[in-house]
Order: sequence, then C-alpha cells, then structure tokens
Amino acid sequence: MDTILVVNAGSSSVKFQVFSIEGEGSLRRQIKGQIDGIGSRPRLRASGASGDPLADRAYPIEAVADVPAAMGIAGEWLRNELRIDPIAVGHRVVHGGPDHDGPVLVDHGVVARLERFVSLAPLHQPHNLAPIRTILAGFPGLPQVACFDTAFHRTHSAVADHYAIPHQFYAEGVRRYGFHGLSYEYIAKTLPQVAPDIAKGRVIVAHLGSGASMCALKGGRSIESTMGFTALDGLPMGTRPGQLDPGVVLYLISEKGMSASNVQNFLYRDCGLKGLSGVSNDMRELEASEDPRAKLAIDHFVYRIGLNAGMLAAALQGLDAFVFTAGIGENSASLRARVAEQLGWLGVALDPAENSRHARLISRAGSRIPVYVVPTDEELMIAQHTLTLLMKAPSSNPRQERVS
Ligand code: ADP
Repeated sequence: MDTILVVNAGSSSVKFQVFSIEGEGSLRRQIKGQIDGIGSRPRLRASGASGDPLADRAYPIEAVADVPAAMGIAGEWLRNELRIDPIAVGHRVVHGGPDHDGPVLVDHGVVARLERFVSLAPLHQPHNLAPIRTILAGFPGLPQVACFDTAFHRTHSAVADHYAIPHQFYAEGVRRYGFHGLSYEYIAKTLPQVAPDIAKGRVIVAHLGSGASMCALKGGRSIESTMGFTALDGLPMGTRPGQLDPGVVLYLISEKGMSASNVQNFLYRDCGLKGLSGVSNDMRELEASEDPRAKLAIDHFVYRIGLNAGMLAAALQGLDAFVFTAGIGENSASLRARVAEQLGWLGVALDPAENSRHARLISRAGSRIPVYVVPTDEELMIAQHTLTLLMKAPSSNPRQERVS
C-alpha cells in the first residue's frame, strides 16, 4: 500500500496522519496521531481510520525533549510497528513568505530560504521546519513537500496586501499575508460540490477554532483575510487578542516595562478568550461557565465576527453565502446562532432545527444569504498537494529511499 505521511509540528506537539493512495489518485485516511507534551509530559496517541485506538503511551521527558525527537519516535512507531513506509511526506509550514503561492518540493536550498521567514512567524516556523530537517538528514531521497498557510492568500491585490507604512518595509516582507490558507483552500475546493450555485460567487468563510480568522472568497479565490502580517490580527482567538491598537503594545512597553519577548508571550498566550474571561481559552468551557466574564468573552467574540463580516462583505462588494468551519464553527450550534443573529442585517436567517443537528445548510429557505457548515480538512489538502507534486516531479524516485 503506497502511503503519504502528513506532519503538522508545533512547539509542544507533532500531529501526523497517514493517507493511502487509492485508485486514480484518491486518498484515504488510515491513521491519525500525535505526540504532545514535548518537553513536559510526552505522550503518543493514535487511532485508525474508524477511530479505533492504535496507541496511547507515555514517554519519559528526556526521551522526547524536542520536535526532532518526537518526529523520530513517531517515525519509528509507524515503521517498526505498523510497517508504514510512506512514499512522500507533506508538511504544514505556516509561512511561505512573499514568493510562495503554492506548495513546493523541499531540498536543503528550500529549507534555507524558508528559514528566512522565521522572523515573520517565530513561534511556528522553526517547529514546522525541524521535522523537515530531521527527515532530510535521515532519508535524503524521500520526497518532502512544504504546504504554506499563507500561499492561498497570495492572490490578494496590492491595496489589500499593504500596510500604510513606508514602502521599504513592504519590500522586506512586512505585508498582510493572511493565514489558515490550507483550510480556506479546502473549503474553496469543496464548495462546488456542496453549493455549486454560490461557489463562483462572493463567500465569507469563518474558520473558528483555537486560532480564528475569516476569509473573503470571490470565485473560489481569496481576496481578503482578517489576519495580516502575523496570526495575531483579526478575530479574538483562544489566547490571542486579534485586532489591537498598536498603541496598546506601546503602552505595555513604555508603561509596563515589558520586553519584546514578554509582549510576544503575552499576545500569543495570555489574551483572547482566555485573557478576557479569566476562565478558559476553550469555547466548550466558556459556554458551560456561569461566570459573567465568560459570557462577556463569548459576546465579544460574536461581536467581532460580526464587525469583520461587515468588513469582508465590503471587500467583496456584496455577499452570496456564509460558511462556518473549524472546531467552534463546526460544533457549536449556539455560537453559530449568535453569529447569525449578528448578521441578520445582511439577510441571514438560520433554521434552528437544521443548525442544532449541524446540517450542511443551516439557513432557512427564505434566507437571502445561505449559511453552510463545511468541516475543514487541512491534512487532506496537504496530502493532495504532496501527491500532486510527487506526480509532477519525474526526477524524484520515491521508491529509492523509503522511511524504513
Ligand atoms: P485548532 O485546530 O486551532 O487547535 P480546533 O479547530 O480544533 O482548533 O478548535 C478548537 C476549539 O473548538 C476550542 O475552542 C473548542 O472548545 C472548540 N470546540 C470543539 N468542539 C466544540 C463544541 N462541541 N462546542 C463548542 N466548542 C467546541
């Protein structure tokens, strides 16, 4: 069985999935796993295609001190215990910089170029690149593909891509990149089957997970995103504030004496729903809480989604459909109902029964704007990109050097 391994590495976890290549290049998910608690309480968990548990084991902290070590353990487990021998590996890489508008086959030169973007995504890029380097060193003949969260947004116009700061900064890479691109690309590719009538039109997609953003799609292409230079901008998130007056950052530095790294930690880890509620960054816990600050955090989240929808509708010069996706968007009927209420002025009217049962189409028949719930699948998108590039690269011989 030919397989593709998909890797999504963060600072404290390495998530992985294995897809088998079926007839005519279709892909079937076989394994879903992750090593989390890297450097604290490492644990490997994995399940099979139907959710059947395949592994749940703890490791001593010294055995999994960093991302390369976690990659090594996951690779050994796949090879030695499951006899998984992938013909290629696809990686999620948060930043492709200004030049990458699609995935690329990776070699040492590409890794060196992607290294330049570490300063644009210091909390993500180094961890995304670490497993690529580990595999390049151990299995130099194994094709690897980097898939970028920024690439899908490279279709933005120059006016959308700029900040109103001196041009030299744009030239050196300070641009409104936008993120969650693999998720939006998956939705854009799926919409023609879900709703062929509106797939060519003007659609706002709300990716509401721990990270949250919204994207304006016109004819299936991204024209605007709520995120900009970094994944801090736009909507409030689990632990990130979203849009913030830069004056607040100046206040933290000048009045609170915070260093750059203190501010960075604060903005990435202590703000958003967690900071505002003082209760949790997790929407399920906020929805279950009686604490008025939890209610305020949800109200704020809904309000900002509404404001940003207005902004994206202006960028699109109208609206033909609204799509919810990701953890909160796919699972929280009450949050969707609150957002729909906020969008009532645009002509959104939900069908409460369809919303409660998480149907694909959750708006009423008479709703001027149809509203959909479309589960995202960034890993499948990465596997598809990896397979496509593999097929296009006749020089790469995937059989030459396998993981085992
Ligand atoms: P990420 O991939 O960015 O880590 P997810 O897309 O998995 O995030 O989304 C995580 C968020 O989804 C969390 O805030 C979690 O509480 C929320 N979530 C998941 N299931 C539900 C649910 N049934 N009701 C409300 N929120 C949910």
